[in-house]
Amino acid sequence: MTKSDLASIVVEADSSNYTKGRKGYKICKLTVHHMAGILTAEQCGKIFQSSNRQASSNYGIGNDGKIACYVGEEDRAWASSSATNDYQAITVEVSNNEIGGDWKVSDAAWNALVNLAVDVCKRYNFRLTYDGTPNGSLTTHNMFIQTTCPGAYLKNKLPELAETVNAILDGSKPKPVVPTAPAKTNRKVGDVVTINGIYTASNSTNKLNPARTTGTITRIIEGALNPYLLDNGNLGWVNDSVIINTTTSTQKPENSNVEIKSGDKVRVLKNIDYNGTKLISSIVGGIYDVIEVAGDRVVIGKGKNVTAAMNKSSLQKI
Ligand SMILES: [Zn+2]
Repeated sequence: MTKSDLASIVVEADSSNYTKGRKGYKICKLTVHHMAGILTAEQCGKIFQSSNRQASSNYGIGNDGKIACYVGEEDRAWASSSATNDYQAITVEVSNNEIGGDWKVSDAAWNALVNLAVDVCKRYNFRLTYDGTPNGSLTTHNMFIQTTCPGAYLKNKLPELAETVNAILDGSKPKPVVPTAPAKTNRKVGDVVTINGIYTASNSTNKLNPARTTGTITRIIEGALNPYLLDNGNLGWVNDSVIINTTTSTQKPENSNVEIKSGDKVRVLKNIDYNGTKLISSIVGGIYDVIEVAGDRVVIGKGKNVTAAMNKSSLQKI
């Protein structure tokens, strides 16, 4: 049996649950599954030991991060509902640490997955590419059949997995895993978030530098790669990994509950206009007249001479 040195135990799957050999296919893919349960590596392996279960994977990672080998790498496990994929892939079942919800996994399991992926990529000489389709070398069960596997949490982290693994292959030290937030964030519309990255679409994997680092969640698409729309699209889309701080909508920014109306005087707090366009920085701190208000859009100027249309959140009533 060929296996990774990172596998500390072998729980061999019953021979009725996998195919011997790989039919000449080369190993060039990694397929990530979730167990849809909170299990140890041994417990998952036991499932594949019952005959005619018709399912298996090459490896399993328990909630504690322990790695078990179930099917040797020279053989094709039955994991992904696609023979073509499984002939070419090392398939890995990862335990969750929550049932339902986003089907999160523990940091220990995540670290083990990163390490195992690096080891597999090194030994079979390939890199991880993820584009959400079977064309990439990092694939998932839901690319081949209607299933929630690998769960929203792992699915959202696949671009990060590819990035982290490739960086290690390129010689950089593993990035320390950011500890999971102590409590489930349950972000909601109205939350003000501080961010260190932005995406142009809910399904984009191309992280960009944000025009500004604070925004308000105005829409949520559950299960999307970047589920949170900020400032009605004026800022872009984000996911949990780029949100570095949250003020829930029950703790509104101090000026948000103050009604701004036509005729008021306001101080400008940010040099960003209503459409997200950057204004000259000297506008910040300036005092302007409010000419017109429609929802959160406030037109400011001197007397009746319009200077800019601003978001209410960029202004402070004085
Ligand atoms: Zn699966």
